[in-house]
Amino acid sequence: SKPVQLSVHLHPYGEGRNLLLSRDITALEQAEAMRRDFVANVSHEIRTPLTVLAGFVETLQTLPLDETEQGKYLGLMSQQATRMQSLVDDLLTLSRLEGSPAPSGADLVDMVQLLQQCKQEAHNLSVLLWGRAQDIQFTVADAVAVTGSATEIHSAVFNLIGNAIRYTPADKSIVVQWHKTGDGEAELSVQDTGPGIAPEHLPRLTERFYRVDRSRSRDTGGTGLGLAIVKHVAQRHGAELLIESVPGRGSTFRLRFKAARLRMH
Ligand code: ADP
Repeated sequence: SKPVQLSVHLHPYGEGRNLLLSRDITALEQAEAMRRDFVANVSHEIRTPLTVLAGFVETLQTLPLDETEQGKYLGLMSQQATRMQSLVDDLLTLSRLEGSPAPSGADLVDMVQLLQQCKQEAHNLSVLLWGRAQDIQFTVADAVAVTGSATEIHSAVFNLIGNAIRYTPADKSIVVQWHKTGDGEAELSVQDTGPGIAPEHLPRLTERFYRVDRSRSRDTGGTGLGLAIVKHVAQRHGAELLIESVPGRGSTFRLRFKAARLRMH
């Protein structure tokens, strides 16, 4: 294949060297292909709301509309602008996570306080999306703090809670828990009673822009980047992201923190 040929020209020093270099080139080509895919995805994600927005502007310019109709169009335009804003925000968050060293273990993140804040935000998001407060139960069983970045952990936890709210119908329940596990680790779990996810999708769920149902994700303001952000934050805190789901029943997302990352209050 092409990479092997190249290595023969550059390094005629024997089999081992050739093999090593050919593998390096393949990895480089893969990284380059991933970068191209990512740029294509981002462009597509931005172009869609932009096209819709431009269409509404044209409508407002050409059609003689009364005030009520104008208001309707302006509302729809504002939705598209918000969508682009969320996308840019999530892209910036991801790029910050990738471009900075992992948070040191020096700072303590008070999970009790963090979840209290999430509870208020969850209530607000639920009212915004569904026009009513969903039944969201918060249980903090242990006052265990985590070492790391409060901003990052908040972003990971609220992405999970936000997904539960967006994918669970208004009349169904959600349970958020923070507790120690038997082996000295601690776990944040977000359990919903939404549509669930078929097993074949689970391995790809944290890929950027991977969505099981595109229109459902977009309708509820999803950027397709949430779980990629959660995975990054977990890695940077030595935590594990576990996903369990039963189609038709619901899903549970868990963030598991190692004992070395935990401090009792
Ligand atoms: P999105 O912005 O599309 O929600 P995410 O990265 O947060 O992007 O999630 C990726 C996909 O995983 C979603 O599009 C959705 O199909 C699926 N998903 C995530 N959370 C849930 C959930 N709680 N219930 C059902 N499906 C979910």
